[in-house]
Amino acid sequence: MLISHDNLIQMILKRKKYDYLIVGSGLFGATFAYRAKQMGKKCLVIDKRPQLGGNVYCENIEGINVHKYGAHIFHTTNKEVWDFINSFVEFNRYTNCPIANYKGELYNLPFNMNTFNKMWPDVHTPAEAQTRIEEQKAEAVATLAGREPQNLEEQALCLVGKDIFYKLIKEYTEKQWGRDCKELPAFIIKRLPVRMIFDNNYFNDKYQGIPIGGYNKLIDGMLEDVECKTNVDFFNSEYKDWQNYADKLVYTGAIDEYFKYKFGKLDWRTVSFKTRIEDNPNYQGNAVINYTSLDEPYTRVIEHKHFEMFGKEVYDCPKTVISEEYSAEYKEGMEPYYPVNDERNNALADMYRKLAEKEENVIFGGRLAQYKYYDMAPVIEQVLKMENI
Ligand code: FAD
Ligand code: UDP
Repeated sequence: MLISHDNLIQMILKRKKYDYLIVGSGLFGATFAYRAKQMGKKCLVIDKRPQLGGNVYCENIEGINVHKYGAHIFHTTNKEVWDFINSFVEFNRYTNCPIANYKGELYNLPFNMNTFNKMWPDVHTPAEAQTRIEEQKAEAVATLAGREPQNLEEQALCLVGKDIFYKLIKEYTEKQWGRDCKELPAFIIKRLPVRMIFDNNYFNDKYQGIPIGGYNKLIDGMLEDVECKTNVDFFNSEYKDWQNYADKLVYTGAIDEYFKYKFGKLDWRTVSFKTRIEDNPNYQGNAVINYTSLDEPYTRVIEHKHFEMFGKEVYDCPKTVISEEYSAEYKEGMEPYYPVNDERNNALADMYRKLAEKEENVIFGGRLAQYKYYDMAPVIEQVLKMENI
């Protein structure tokens, strides 16, 4: 039987066909690939970075798992998500208790009785702290004249008052976001708990920890037996014509880039890291120290070993790895990290989302494609809830 040229091409393409082409191997892409594999689907995962895992990728330096794209602490209230990730790798009991350094003064975070006593040494009890905060809140509430707080500054002043705002929030936030607190949305600061107990645990969630042996174990577990290609940028590769390769596309890159910036560019914040090895087993005594004044150009300093080494283990490892984290406005060629959810960008993102809804056989998922400030757990939860994969 003679086969025509066109039919031959069709047959070759069919043989190559995947059910899903997944752009991005971060937690959205990796969880999706795992679930699709479970359903018997064939996937190809591509990522433009040299490694898999997106922002949770860890690099081993001096026996320490270094969180290369920013410190990541897993936390969730969702038992299904917790059990799911623990099925790939056991998580340790790490509890995030960051310290704030304001011009050399050290404060516990999140805002709790330890913070209040350090801020106001005459405050010793929850009732005294409440009274002090209420006094300061009253000033802020009075200026609102009955309306709701409209921006981060108003929200923070109503939440904790001016002393905490000026020492622990204002300059840190402006360094992190590169904008005045009055120009930022109120919800950002609502992420931080305010507690009338002596409790330095940064998160309220029931489950919290770091994968023992690093996040790569989690990603490797999810992507086992899935075909993956690194150093492949979707837009500059053969896969941009994805219909030739797969029935459906899962896209976890930036949403504006997908639509060729048709309505203009979305703003992002980016972070960069200056990482160094110190000949010292215990450099700062904590995994995370936030620098809340403008005196230091970096927002925080991470000592990675404290995520996975405790007690004697800290001293058994003679060196340590330190990363200073710098926040900056995103420019082309940089990594987009945080969506800037102000009015202009939210409106622009909505326009792109409407286009995305019309895109056939394409799933837009994760922080970049949804332009949402997601933590890790909600990203995984979203994929676990998806039907008809
Ligand atoms: P990503 O991890 O960003 O993965 C997207 C992937 O897509 C990347 O690997 C990228 O290279 C790839 N990609 C993009 N475009 C293309 C393209 N054109 N072609 C090929 N590949 C492409 N969450 C927490 O729960 N706890 C924390 O402590 C925490 N800390 C954080 C600290 C920082 C500095 C940042 C930025 C985020 C933090 N997060 C934290 C959030 C967490 O990183 C995200 O929720 C999670 O990574 C989202 O996964 P994702 O798959 O959506 O995105
Ligand atoms: N924040 C602050 N001081 C701090 C830590 C956080 O003012 O020491 C504010 C800041 O505006 C930040 C927000 O609280 O954007 C949320 O902090 P979180 O640590 O949750 O942000 P992440 O960096 O993890 O996204």
